[in-house]
Amino acid sequence: MRVPLVAGNWKMHGGLSENAALLSAVVEAASKLRRAQVAVCVPYPYLAQAQQSLAGSQVSWGAQNVSQHPKGAYTGEVSAGMLRDFACAYAIVGHSERRALFGEDSATVAAKYQAASEGGLTPILCVGETLQQREAGETERVVDEQLSAVTSRLGWKALSKGVIAYEPVWAIGTGKTATPEQAQAVHRYLRERIAAEEPDIARSLRLLYGGSVKAANAADLFAMPDIDGGLIGGASLDAVEFRAICIAADNAGT
Ligand code: PEP
Repeated sequence: MRVPLVAGNWKMHGGLSENAALLSAVVEAASKLRRAQVAVCVPYPYLAQAQQSLAGSQVSWGAQNVSQHPKGAYTGEVSAGMLRDFACAYAIVGHSERRALFGEDSATVAAKYQAASEGGLTPILCVGETLQQREAGETERVVDEQLSAVTSRLGWKALSKGVIAYEPVWAIGTGKTATPEQAQAVHRYLRERIAAEEPDIARSLRLLYGGSVKAANAADLFAMPDIDGGLIGGASLDAVEFRAICIAADNAGT
């Protein structure tokens, strides 16, 4: 049975004093869970604070991006090795905001996936379609292309080192969540696609759903058989909401 994972994506939010309160609330919430795992992906400058506040707790931490390069003249970039210096467990790669606003294409995302996994981090690979693509019936083609960029570069076995987050772009930060059935359909598609190549990896790979997950809809989403937790944006900044989402993941499938 796959262990559920709830990962917060703080995006470009936070500040030293507000983070301190939020991190201690997340530690407290995670300490009450029986099986779900919890992580927070914080802005780079707060990694040291996350490490200090979360070390020894049940909460892991990570970054929201990582360079595809190990080191060199890449002003403004942060390598996987630097993230490991702060004991990061995860790096999000291919978030739709990075694809849309910072021009990251699927080939770059695949290179980042490689840099993260070879650098000792678990990449959280985000895939998902825009509203226009969904309405044109292209959802499966789009997520397939985003996934294939990784598997054609690294092989299917590389998926065993990561987590996939299905995040329909139209549901991110919009308040419009995919219905549990819509999300499950894409998750099932992804799992079957992977199972056709690597059945054991498909069975154990965690597929998170992301896109306006809140306390009010988390339990229904996490009850779906191929949804193994969530990547949580806005609601991860609210300790009460995030705690309720973690509890919903903990109770899913039990
Ligand atoms: C995200 O940023 O990954 C996300 C899912 O955001 P939100 O939960 O705010 O839609």
